[in-house]
Amino acid sequence: MQVATDNASTEVRLRGAALSPGVAVGRPCFFTWHNGSDSPESSAGGDEVQRLRDSLQRVAHQRAHLAEQTATVLDREHADIFTTQCLMLDDESLQTELVQAIQDQGCSAQQAVRQVFDSYKAQLSASDSGYLQQRVADIDEIRQTILGDLERTVPCRYCREAYNCSIDRCRLGNDHILVGREITTSLPVETDMHTTGFIVEKAGPNSHAIILARALLRPVVGNIRDLPDCIPAQAQLLIDGTKGQVIINPSPETLALYQARRNNDSTDVQVSTPVTGLRVMANISLSADVREALAAGAEGVGLYRTEMELLAAGRLLSENEQAVRYTQVVKAMAGKPVCIRLLDLHHDKNAVWLSSREQSSDANGKAGKHILLARPEMLQAQARALATAARHGPIHVLYPMIISAKQFLDLRRRFDAATADMPTVGLQHGVLFEVPAACLAAAEIMAVADFGCIGTNDLIQYLFGADRDGTDTHNHSDFESSSVLWKMIAALSHTAASAGKPMGICGELASKPELTCRILSCGINTISTSAAHIADVRRAAKSRYSETPSTPA
Ligand code: PEP
Ligand code: MG
Repeated sequence: MQVATDNASTEVRLRGAALSPGVAVGRPCFFTWHNGSDSPESSAGGDEVQRLRDSLQRVAHQRAHLAEQTATVLDREHADIFTTQCLMLDDESLQTELVQAIQDQGCSAQQAVRQVFDSYKAQLSASDSGYLQQRVADIDEIRQTILGDLERTVPCRYCREAYNCSIDRCRLGNDHILVGREITTSLPVETDMHTTGFIVEKAGPNSHAIILARALLRPVVGNIRDLPDCIPAQAQLLIDGTKGQVIINPSPETLALYQARRNNDSTDVQVSTPVTGLRVMANISLSADVREALAAGAEGVGLYRTEMELLAAGRLLSENEQAVRYTQVVKAMAGKPVCIRLLDLHHDKNAVWLSSREQSSDANGKAGKHILLARPEMLQAQARALATAARHGPIHVLYPMIISAKQFLDLRRRFDAATADMPTVGLQHGVLFEVPAACLAAAEIMAVADFGCIGTNDLIQYLFGADRDGTDTHNHSDFESSSVLWKMIAALSHTAASAGKPMGICGELASKPELTCRILSCGINTISTSAAHIADVRRAAKSRYSETPSTPA
């Protein structure tokens, strides 16, 4: 239970979800909507259609401006998030539905927007897919922005000393943390440099807002309940987006501790050097993340979640577009191994732009590999893009959600057929062990795969029936320390060693320094984690070696 304190001298810690890494300090600033002087909810008829068209045009113009701003501060790929919103506003069938609601049903412009967008929302919300749930946030944002424009309601913010500040400028010029129930996609881009981080109640790790916050190095802590009431307006705040913690009124000792961490940390990742006997690689989502991986001193990329590129673009990417991204990562890593996972578009990451055939609500029935099997052209384009990129350095292709050697070989055959006319010398093929069935079939799988990697996020989910969103965070640490899980990890390591093949580990568990020694003692010496945790993992491994001078198996 989260409780705010009135006592400015008491430090209070709230545990939330780590959505965007890094540390930020500031005073609270609260996000809200300001109602304009007159709110013209006009009666139906008249020039409602024109009013609606004017509004759509203004909002499209504003989104185009955000796209330009994003392209300037980040890159074109991230700017595409807003370009896609412009395309949505320009969509003829959407416009026809809105106009029909006005002309045929006598709706006002606002009523038409609510009705049409709510029906889109209802369709998406009915899905079990976490990804589609998060796209509801996009639809909501466009709906709210158009309504705001029609009703002259504007997003704004306030703090204990200033009211109705515009989103893009803090009148006081103070560093602050923006507190709000939700974070809109535009906020990370629109807010000024004084907004050092965000605390939110609801936000998905794959939402566009969070993808942009991460790219802009703005820490975000989510899943904090009872906002804004649990944050006193008078408080000083420190947020740790890496650990998912909000510290209200941090003590001088806490501030000093975090300040030291920030001083050592110019790029928001700590630089560290390799430890003998351990390889620490980086998990990345977008090709642009490779910069951070290099800054952290990663010894390669251990997991490149390629579906995130598609989710960020909001569409499928052509063979060439994929090849450009993969090549960028391989070249940046300059000969270090790069492990690129085949598209893993399943349950929580389902994509609205895939046909309904693939958007089954049956999570297990449409895991990543099934979509690759159901859509051979997707696997073909990705296989060819990977073969193109492998001309520039070694690529380890990782097959997600595999349950048997037969299934892996089936996909492998398709990969080979797609690249039959290309050189494939730099490519190796391995399996992500994240489904218990695959772990039980590990000996057969490791006989035919070149390498293996343990994906603990899904493995914990399927092994314990756990909720991987972290809403059962309390139990999560129990799962992570369960002897059942560790027996499975040790068995996988042993099976791989017997086959003479490498076995690594990725997933959230691998990022926890308190578990590093346990991983090493299972005989696993390749860990892949987000760039933010590389230094912590190495530090933990070093302490083990200073205690026991033997190298891991
Ligand atoms: C995993 O399941 O542990 C994993 C690495 O894959 P993801 O988190 O992308 O599902
Ligand atoms: Mg997984």
